[in-house]
Amino acid sequence: MMPRSDSLNRTAANPLHSTAALFQGVEKPWEFPSIPLRDPAPGEILVKVLACTICGSDLHTICGRRHAHPPAVLGHEIVGEVLAIGPNTSPLDHLGIPIQPSDRVVWGIVANCGKCFYCLHELPQKCSLAFKYGHQQINEGSIWQGGFAQHCMLAPGTTLVRLPEHLTLEAACPLSCATSTIAAAMRIAAPLTNQRVLVVGAGMLGITALAYARELGAARLACLEPDSSRRELALGSFRADIAGDVAELERWIANKQNGIGFDLIIECSGSNAGTLDAMRLMRTGGRCILVGAVFPSAPIPLVFEEFVRRQWTIHGVHNYRSDDLVRAVEFMSDAQARYPFADLVRETYPLKQIERAVIAAQLRENIRVAILP
Ligand SMILES: [Zn+2]
Ligand SMILES: [Zn+2]
Repeated sequence: MMPRSDSLNRTAANPLHSTAALFQGVEKPWEFPSIPLRDPAPGEILVKVLACTICGSDLHTICGRRHAHPPAVLGHEIVGEVLAIGPNTSPLDHLGIPIQPSDRVVWGIVANCGKCFYCLHELPQKCSLAFKYGHQQINEGSIWQGGFAQHCMLAPGTTLVRLPEHLTLEAACPLSCATSTIAAAMRIAAPLTNQRVLVVGAGMLGITALAYARELGAARLACLEPDSSRRELALGSFRADIAGDVAELERWIANKQNGIGFDLIIECSGSNAGTLDAMRLMRTGGRCILVGAVFPSAPIPLVFEEFVRRQWTIHGVHNYRSDDLVRAVEFMSDAQARYPFADLVRETYPLKQIERAVIAAQLRENIRVAILP
């Protein structure tokens, strides 16, 4: 019999409280309200947030490059511990094993209905009733549903994956965003065997893509990245064969690849310049998967004739499906021993120092910064 949530509220007069860092808008001070926690309703699961890393898209929101609806509890790269499960709710993990209180879990960034057109067409992240963690406006009576808070209430329709004990908290944090997004990109890119792959950008997405492509059997791995510290990371611990600017990669293609450009490009930078440079390096018949462009950018000139004559395939990937999250956990559980993913979380901050954490997260050398609420 699964323990239920009856014991959550210590007494009606003294309920458990939870504090969040509330985003109030660009350049406005964060607020730290505390609310009494209610019991989870049927279908809901209450989770204690163990850690949440600051994703690039959180920074886009905080800095105003992407529109949000404040006040909001941001943060979606979350690892949590199950505290209480709503009545008549029997969540199962991907293996069909019941999720229990005290389990350490990650969950899908989007809760979906399972019944709408997009849910039935393998795009559950585009569900017409989608609920997205770390993106919702807080109203009177809202409960926290983002990672920059001590607790998070999971909605019905959320995929949970229990984490293996050996998986470190630091390596696990990006699973519910960056790692799973790359797992989705690699599902579309597969098979990687014998492919010469160019990864654009060596932030969390790009670094993960390098390791993931290597593990899936890519023949050659290159990284297009302007920052020297990130290039070193790509070349060193994450084992790219070459990392450089567009001129260096052009020389490498001319001298070492018989002038034939890359078979596959994984675009993780979101930069127009980076994407256009990368497409110059793609061979005829090549494929390009766009992952990084998750905020509005200026239009770019494209010549469709070039797409036709050069037989290019371009594929956009936004978020991921449940099976991608499962594969991401499996990948990281294994890969953390061979690649220093845990070291990518360079600094940690308590919730109330979120302003300092956001400043630190914007430094190029900090691939990830974590909030420990
Ligand atoms: Zn994210
Ligand atoms: Zn749906």
